[in-house]
Amino acid sequence: MGRKFFVGGNWKCNGTPEEVKKIVSVLNEGQVPSSDVVEVVVSPPFVFLGLVKSSLRPGFHVAAQNCWVKKGGAFTGEISAEMLVNLEIPWVILGHSERRLILNELNEFVGDKVAYALSQGLKVIACVGETLEQREAGSTMDVVAAQTKAIADRVSSWSNIVLAYEPVWAIGTGKVATPAQAQEVHFELRKWLLANTSPEIAAATRIIYGGSVNGANCKELAAQPDVDGFLVGGASLKPEFIDIIKSAE
Ligand code: PGA
Repeated sequence: MGRKFFVGGNWKCNGTPEEVKKIVSVLNEGQVPSSDVVEVVVSPPFVFLGLVKSSLRPGFHVAAQNCWVKKGGAFTGEISAEMLVNLEIPWVILGHSERRLILNELNEFVGDKVAYALSQGLKVIACVGETLEQREAGSTMDVVAAQTKAIADRVSSWSNIVLAYEPVWAIGTGKVATPAQAQEVHFELRKWLLANTSPEIAAATRIIYGGSVNGANCKELAAQPDVDGFLVGGASLKPEFIDIIKSAE
């Protein structure tokens, strides 16, 4: 099917300049598969984007962790998609559950952000995922379908979107989804894309998993047919991120 494996590192709100330089040197020295096999994108906090972009090995790229929903202007504290494009930041993470849940970003708002970022030329890692309560209530698919629909309603092309399935109960908890649990939702999401977008989009869109991925559990997850990569939080700040990149092979 030709979906290139994708590994994203979400550094969240972490790091001093010294720590950032250390992580970059680990990334730069790591033995990893070629960029024909795996696409690697790391996402430092805004303030370190320039430093990381200028010191990162060729072939690895950077993502912002958020951007504003429309054109920049009088929006104190926000960063616009145009600014990221001007600084040649190719990617942005949107709809992370920490922003959905802590900052009350609703599905429609996330969908608007994705559409605007794409319209400006950014590539988007769009995150969806259910809470533990929603999973236990049996509504996992309804939740992730509604989150995905809010994006699908607003975009026509998915070629610059990577969809990240990140169950909230697995994020930062050490409770990784089992390979079967991940595969089940990824399969259902691909089915949803098939029914609601097009066969081409369903076949080509990369659906990556996030939530307590580490060097020890990545291989088995990566072996699932509908798991096309990872969005890694905690472990992306550690040398084991290199092992996770290697799970592409
Ligand atoms: P985690 O975070 O790997 O630390 O669970 C994943 C994420 O939030 O993207």
